[in-house]
Amino acid sequence: MGDVTLEHLIKRYDDVTAVNDVSLDIEDGEFVTLVGPSGCGKSTTLEMIAGLTTPSEGKVSIAGEEVTRLPPKDRNIAMVFQNIALFPHLSVRENISFGLELRDYDDEEIDDRVERAAETVQMEGTLDRMPDELSGGQRQRIAIARAIVREPAVFLMDEPLANLDAALRVHMRTELQRLHKELGTTVVYVTHDQEEAMTMSNRLAVMNEGEVQQFAGPLECYNRP
Ligand code: ADP
Ligand code: ADP
Repeated sequence: MGDVTLEHLIKRYDDVTAVNDVSLDIEDGEFVTLVGPSGCGKSTTLEMIAGLTTPSEGKVSIAGEEVTRLPPKDRNIAMVFQNIALFPHLSVRENISFGLELRDYDDEEIDDRVERAAETVQMEGTLDRMPDELSGGQRQRIAIARAIVREPAVFLMDEPLANLDAALRVHMRTELQRLHKELGTTVVYVTHDQEEAMTMSNRLAVMNEGEVQQFAGPLECYNRP
């Protein structure tokens, strides 16, 4: 249900081609990482999957449906970014439920879903706290809970661990792998950190200057003789 197909995607800005003819077939349930140096087009590619950036050319399909020109809310996706912004004046519970279209659920179902999402990121004890009472890693988990509460078919993450310290980053890698297994959703993940990409992904799309140079498993991408 969560397969993602990119066909000949191009994104041009005035003086630069950020993404230059990218085609990828991402399978349902796969963890795919876009990796490569700063400026190679990773974020722009992810933004086009998310519906935050409109391609100059090409097509994006999610679960077999073309979504190239649909807004983010009409795609079966959820996103987590590097600069997580929880609402400081809302409790953890309210921050997580903010990810739901509240009018679509009754109170009981909202509570249920919020509690399940909090359990998944192992933060069920913090629902009544405020964001400023949490550590950076805990806040990042809440941002993840806010995304998974929607139970998306596709989960998009752009450097979600970049602002965490090294130890926490390594720990969160394991957590994200566990989460991926548990939820069974497709993940498209962006990082410039090769090691992070290698430990978590089923396949890597290695990008350079707007192009995908290789799309393969981690060993094949980095252990070439
Ligand atoms: P990455 O995520 O790999 O660092 P980006 O996708 O952010 O790369 O950027 C790819 C290229 O496109 C860079 O040269 C960047 O400066 C340029 N770019 C990205 N967004 C814009 C924009 N809104 N306007 C102009 N140029 C942009
Ligand atoms: P990344 O961490 O992916 O390298 P950047 O710092 O390059 O991100 O870009 C952050 C945001 O700024 C993105 O939304 C991108 O589209 C936009 N952006 C990047 N480069 C430019 C640019 N040259 N002109 C305008 N916007 C840009």
